Amino acid sequence: MNTSLRIAIVGAGPGGLTLARILHRHGMTVSVFERESGPFERPQGGTLDLHAESGQLSLRRAGLEDAFKRIARYEDQGSRLMNHHGHLLYEAPNPEAGERPEVDRTALRQALLDSLPLGCVNWGAGIDAVDPVGDGRWTLHQGALTHGPFDLVVGSDGAWSKVRPLLSHYQPQYSGLTFIEFGIDEVDNLHPPIARLVGRGKLDIDGEARSIIVQRNANAHLRGYAVFRVPTDWAASHIDLSCAASLKTHFEGWHPDILALFDAANAQLECRHIHALPVGHRWAHRPGLTLIGDAAHLMSPFGGEGVNAAMLDAAELAQHLLKTPDCSQAVQAYENHMFERVMPAAQGSAEGAATQLSHDSLALSLAHLHHHLTPQ
Ligand SMILES: Cc1cc2nc3c(=O)[nH]c(=O)nc-3n(C[C@H](O)[C@H](O)[C@H](O)COP(=O)(O)OP(=O)(O)OC[C@H]3O[C@@H](n4cnc5c(N)ncnc54)[C@H](O)[C@@H]3O)c2cc1C
Repeated sequence: MNTSLRIAIVGAGPGGLTLARILHRHGMTVSVFERESGPFERPQGGTLDLHAESGQLSLRRAGLEDAFKRIARYEDQGSRLMNHHGHLLYEAPNPEAGERPEVDRTALRQALLDSLPLGCVNWGAGIDAVDPVGDGRWTLHQGALTHGPFDLVVGSDGAWSKVRPLLSHYQPQYSGLTFIEFGIDEVDNLHPPIARLVGRGKLDIDGEARSIIVQRNANAHLRGYAVFRVPTDWAASHIDLSCAASLKTHFEGWHPDILALFDAANAQLECRHIHALPVGHRWAHRPGLTLIGDAAHLMSPFGGEGVNAAMLDAAELAQHLLKTPDCSQAVQAYENHMFERVMPAAQGSAEGAATQLSHDSLALSLAHLHHHLTPQ
């Protein structure tokens, strides 16, 4: 282990913070640069299921098993599939006994932040560019400010990474799917029929060239997505983002119990265009730079693997840096293994995005659920 290495991590998402925590735990000094002004600048998004062999394993390596148990929701692992007539086609048996508890993204980020020393994360530090110094090290540029030089810069800055262009020519491509996100508060008290419809976990509703995904979050909050296969500019002219009930016009003929979701939703909607990097995305090693998480292998959310892969990248990169004295060898070992490891997840997510809303989507979803969630 080379504790004198100067390491910069760009991006304080689940990947970057897991890496910072594991390295810090083993005596290495790291600096994290995050463009958001503080941990509460924006809600961090919905609920995530952390898998035993990746997300949970990484938190164990981070020494955060107990912190995780305090925020994990084992009771919310349910999964349902319904058609647009409101017929329930699948319900996971014994969802509470599953190994993939849900955790709210904000709670996960807070647990990771609480485990880091004050000053480790530089807030309000959006990095615009990374430049070579000439001696194998790199500097970070934040407006007129320069940080560094660093021996290693890790891009964990998500889909639109500013580090990735130094390693790869690829940009994420639009998958053709647009998610219109809605939220429902206090569902148990204010909307008991909707709470019953969704159940304790996730509800997928597949219809004719449309779908709705709704997921239970902590504090009786539901987060949902109305899913459309449309050009990127479609939502701007067809969706009123200040009126959730207006979504009903795009789901004509759907069962009234399902349409009630849009009546119950908060007025403000968010539009999310789903992008992905090509399956098998990789780059030639360049000393002093690497990528983890979405910056390395952005996938559509259909596999539910993105955050798990990001956290496992962090754990594996940390392990190589801790056991291999030569930084470049450590990073190459991480990259070579990671490129292969993420392939099946990236392939599965790509297939999910390609078949979602197709004529076969309901049958494929059903087969997937039977294969993956029903005990064999
Ligand atoms: C709608 C939707 C639903 C999803 N659902 C799931 C799910 O159920 N399960 C799952 O596993 N995954 C899911 N994902 C994917 C998951 O969100 C990502 O894979 C995961 O967040 C990746 O973590 P990360 O740390 O690599 O990047 P991010 O979480 O994107 O974090 C990147 C961080 O870098 C910061 N940043 C960006 N640019 C800069 C810059 N230039 N300078 C400094 N900081 C910067 C950002 O502010 C952010 O804090 C979903 C994604 C979407 C869009």
